[in-house]
Amino acid sequence: MSATTRAFRIPVNPAGWDAERIRKDFPALHQEVHGKPLVYLDNAATSQKPQVVIDALTAYYTRDNANVHRGVHVLSERATDAYEGARERIRRHLNAASTREIVFVRQATEAINLVMASFGRTVVGAGDEIVISAIEHHANIVPWQMLCQEKGARLKVLPVDDRGDLIMDEYPRLLGPRTRLVAITQVSNALGTITPIKEIIEVAHRLNIPVLVDGAQAVPHQAVDVRELDCDFYVFSGHKAYGPTGIGVLYGKESWLERMPPYQGGGDMIKMVSFEKTIYNDLPYKFEAGTPHIAGAIGLATALDYLDGLGLDAVGAWEHELLVYGTELLQAVPGLRLIGTARRKAGVLSFVLDGVHAHDLGTILDQHGVAVRAGHHCAMPVMDRFGVPATVRASLGLYNTPGEVEALSSAVRTAQEIFA
Ligand code: PLP
Repeated sequence: MSATTRAFRIPVNPAGWDAERIRKDFPALHQEVHGKPLVYLDNAATSQKPQVVIDALTAYYTRDNANVHRGVHVLSERATDAYEGARERIRRHLNAASTREIVFVRQATEAINLVMASFGRTVVGAGDEIVISAIEHHANIVPWQMLCQEKGARLKVLPVDDRGDLIMDEYPRLLGPRTRLVAITQVSNALGTITPIKEIIEVAHRLNIPVLVDGAQAVPHQAVDVRELDCDFYVFSGHKAYGPTGIGVLYGKESWLERMPPYQGGGDMIKMVSFEKTIYNDLPYKFEAGTPHIAGAIGLATALDYLDGLGLDAVGAWEHELLVYGTELLQAVPGLRLIGTARRKAGVLSFVLDGVHAHDLGTILDQHGVAVRAGHHCAMPVMDRFGVPATVRASLGLYNTPGEVEALSSAVRTAQEIFA
């Protein structure tokens, strides 16, 4: 530990948390970049994968690879069992009522586009309104904008205060008889804000307005119970939750999914096809046209097993300790401004440094082995709101350590000296 950091409170391990042992599960962490040990702090973009997930993918392709649902041979049965087993695993993780409510997609982005195309095009008409928040990722802005343009509907935006908290007093005023959907994030990727999602859902439901929750930044860090939340739709990506890329999940209440038309047409989403008429398949297959990412689903289920094995409460507690420590260290750097200091925050440290452009800072951090993201984080409206073109974002994962947070702050100080 450097002399500059000695005054700070060092994170306390939650009972039984052994970061060094956990790090051994992640092969990609054990490498050097630019001759320095890798400090991976870009977890909000994507997480590294534990060996069990890599092994699950290898095992699937080594032994069981076949197409699902249609085959009569052993490998196809194995692949189908594993794929449908993964769906059940995800149902259990989210506490959904039925696997009929779990649709595999490519990622959170596709899940939102599915709801936009299927639910949105059916339900939203000219003069209707969709409510989002000022801290959404582009994935939860652009599809709704496209729908509004197409239908002559209006996008309304719940504002954010200077800390990065949603201004909840404004929320009821945004809802009305023309509101067809509220689509809001559970955790902001750019600021780390944890939104009061339960309250957001309750208030909308009093007016019978359905709510889509973007859980992309929540699922890797906390337990999620869709029945407890009572959300209508919930989306997340596997790759941010220690699973593979190319696999994500849409949860939808069965009552909505039943009423929604298919998103794409093709194989597997049908029961019967003739040139006159097609009868669509049951849920959830109605929404899964074509060969799915079978290995991805299996890998994601394995990642959720891994997360549950550690315990999501312990994961959240550890990351919170790191966040508090990192906040203290960075706030002590002269000329550094944290962007996003919400009352309830996940492990995101977004900041700007006087006299150093975020991209230059990101490059210097990389030279020190510290992997962060520099830019607008697919949240340009957030950057506009805080009056900055870009930030450097360090985002924490379960395998990060106090020493890595110190490496970040000391690399930032070095960058500052270079530009002084
Ligand atoms: N929503 C949030 C809050 C995100 O942080 C992200 C990605 O960073 C997305 C949606 C989109 O995720 P993906 O690119 O995996 O679809």
